[in-house]
This record gives sequence, structure tokens and C-alpha cells, in this order.
Amino acid sequence: MSKTAYTTHHGMTDLLPGEIEQWQALEAIIHETARLFHFQEIRTPVLEQTELIARGVGQLTDIVSKEMFTFDRGEDHYVLRPEGTAPVARAYVQHHLAQRGGTQRLYYIGPFFRAERPQKGRQRQFHQFGAELVGARGSIADVEIIAFMTRIYRQIGITNTTLKLNSVGEPESREAYRKALRDYFKPLAGQLSEVSRNRLDTNPMRILDSKEEQDQPLKAGAPVITDFLSAASRKHFESVRDLLDKLRIPYDVDPFLVRGLDYYTETAFELTSPDLGSQDALGGGGRYDLLIEEVGGPPTPAVGFACGIERLMIACEALGLKLADPSGPDIYFVTRGEEAARWALEKMPDLRNSGLVCTMDYSGRSLKAQMKDANRQQARFAVIIGEQELNDNMFTLRDMEKSEESLISGSEITERVLSS
Ligand code: AMP
Repeated sequence: MSKTAYTTHHGMTDLLPGEIEQWQALEAIIHETARLFHFQEIRTPVLEQTELIARGVGQLTDIVSKEMFTFDRGEDHYVLRPEGTAPVARAYVQHHLAQRGGTQRLYYIGPFFRAERPQKGRQRQFHQFGAELVGARGSIADVEIIAFMTRIYRQIGITNTTLKLNSVGEPESREAYRKALRDYFKPLAGQLSEVSRNRLDTNPMRILDSKEEQDQPLKAGAPVITDFLSAASRKHFESVRDLLDKLRIPYDVDPFLVRGLDYYTETAFELTSPDLGSQDALGGGGRYDLLIEEVGGPPTPAVGFACGIERLMIACEALGLKLADPSGPDIYFVTRGEEAARWALEKMPDLRNSGLVCTMDYSGRSLKAQMKDANRQQARFAVIIGEQELNDNMFTLRDMEKSEESLISGSEITERVLSS
């Protein structure tokens, strides 16, 4: 009989004990930060309609044109969600959240899927946390979103980051800008990388995103969008910068930071880290005043961010930041014989009611093996139970760290462990 050793798909990883504690600690920080900003969690399905993502994210994006995991069942077209904003916009429209009044303040944490070529910091299943302020037009909303995002990294101790900031203006300004970019790059087409050359007609703003070596000197002389902004956009951008200054959130204006999607408007930002290598974006976001309408809702201004958790973990590792250590049980019951094991099993609910973490051996191993296991699990105390101990109702309590033992009665266990 042949045996198959199954593995995860390429670019998808298991999160195992030892690593998961770090994730749980991060999630606690995200939930706590959201609480302080008074945002509420939203959980949307992992599968969405392909059409929603195609419309919401945009046909011309890499995500939609080549990175979606899709399948059909009957009449329905399913896609594993590649990002969180279009699903939130869908939920906002579907559940008429506008009728709840005011601005919707939503955040999410979860897995996302893109069929990218896996490399460090780039996976096919990855995780993001993000937040969206839906129904808010003013520059204060942009700045609250940026403050939310940056506060999480500051809380964790990832402080060597750069916040890049730009304005991509309104659609009319972008149209004029696109034309200017085409006029500028057309005569240089022969010197552009192939990817950029292909974008010349379809989406010339994406050329500015290019990381290709040969495009860099050509990009340097390109027109900047700042020169094409309307007076209103200019004012909005100035106000965002002014408010960031007031909050002492440092940023670099980067006129080449563009989000190549049509629904993006005004503010765009990205948080980068020098610890990430070539995939240096921790997260990013911006204003998307046209998306809700694009997916069938009423005109609704909105702004949000999304950040990658795997990349945050890479930054933590590079900086030697540990958010949590795996912790051992308070008590490990070392038992000899069936009756002792039963006694421990019956005792544990009470101890747990007092908040103590307890465990025991489940397979009748030797005392030596159980002590070894207690050590390996980093138990604070071992309670050793045999026939004699049961008869006398006196047990050996071993402080694992100090290697000290004392004799105590069954009813003393809780207090002794809680008080030390
Ligand atoms: P985006 O939705 O493309 O703006 O991505 C927001 C953030 O999610 C990025 O800055 C990354 O930190 C993270 N991210 C995006 N795609 C991936 C991926 N394939 N693997 C890991 N992280 C990703």
C-alpha cells in the first residue's frame, strides 16, 4: 500500500503552536485599538461573487486579471476574496448600513487569497487586518484611519517605518494626468520594461508602481499628479497633511504613490518597513469615494486601510519583538494508577473554576515520563498522586522552577498555587 504525505498548497502555511501565540497577541492589540477608536468588527464570507471583485477591485488590476482563485458551481461564480474593501462595501449596500445613520466604523481581520508567485512576504493565503470609515467625507476621517493604522505598529514597537502619502485627486484630474503620463512615456516606450510598456495604454499610472530597475530613471522625470489636482483636492490634501503634523504622525509625500484603481480618490498612503526586503509594504489604504456606488449603493464617501499580518510578523522577527511567549500550565497532575488519574480528572474542574490552567497525562505513562512531560510543557507545579497519597489525602506539590517539594492536602492545592 502506498502512503501519500500530503502537504499544504504552495504559498499557504499552517500556523502552529509556538507561533500562534504571537498572532493571538497581535489580534488582541488590533481588537483593543479598534475599541479605543470605537470601530466595530465585521466578518464577511471568505467566498464572494466573482463579479463583485471584478467590479470592485477593477478589471485592469493584477488581482482581477491574474490572481483570483475562482470556481463555478451551477450558475454561481465564486471567488476566494482577495481583499477586504469590496466585501465590506458589498455588505454596507446589502444590509443598508447607511440607514443605521452616521458614519459606519468597521474593522476586520481574516484570511485573503491571491494566486501570486510565493516569496518572502508574499503568500497565496495571507492575512490582513483593516478598517473602513464609510460615509465620511472630511480630511479628519482620512487622518483617523491613518492614526488607527500607525497606532497598532507603535503599540507593537515597530517604529522604523515610513508613511508615504499622496493624493490621486478626482477622476477628472486623473484622466488629465493619465494623458500627460502617456505623452511623457510614449517616446520612451522602447526603454521601458515590458510590463510597463504593456501598461502604457491601459493604465499608465501603474508604471509609477514599477519596481523594475530599467524603469527607475525614466520614472524620475515623469509629471507628478500633484500638478493636476483641482483646487478642492489640493485643499483636502493640505488639510490631511496639516492634521497629520498636528498629531505628530510623520510622513513623506511621495508623488509616485498611486493606487491604480479608478474608484480611489484623493488621499493614498502606504506604510513601509526597511525590514521586509523587496516586498516592503506593511500596509496601505486611501479614500475610495466611488466604490460604494460602483457596487450598487448610493454615492458614499469612504476611506480605509489594509495591512498584511505575515509582513508585520516578519518585521517583528527582524526587530526581535516578541508579543507573547507560549505559557505552560499552572499545574500538571502526575498520576500513578487509574484511581489517581480519576481523582485528578475530577479535581481539575474546580481548579479551572479558580482560573488555574491544569492538565495531566492521558495515557498512563511512567512517573518519569510524566515528570519529563510536565517539564517540557513548562508547568509551574506538578502535583504527584499515587495510592498512598490518595489514602492520606496528602500530595506532593513540586515547584518545577525552584525544584522544591512540599506535602499538602487536596483542598490546599488551589490556594497554594494561586498565592505563588
Ligand atoms: P493591498 O490589499 O494589495 O493594498 O495589500 C495590503 C497589504 O496586505 C500589503 O501591504 C501587504 O502587507 C499585504 N499583502 C498583500 N498581498 C499579500 C500577499 N500575497 N502575501 C502577503 N501579504 C500580502
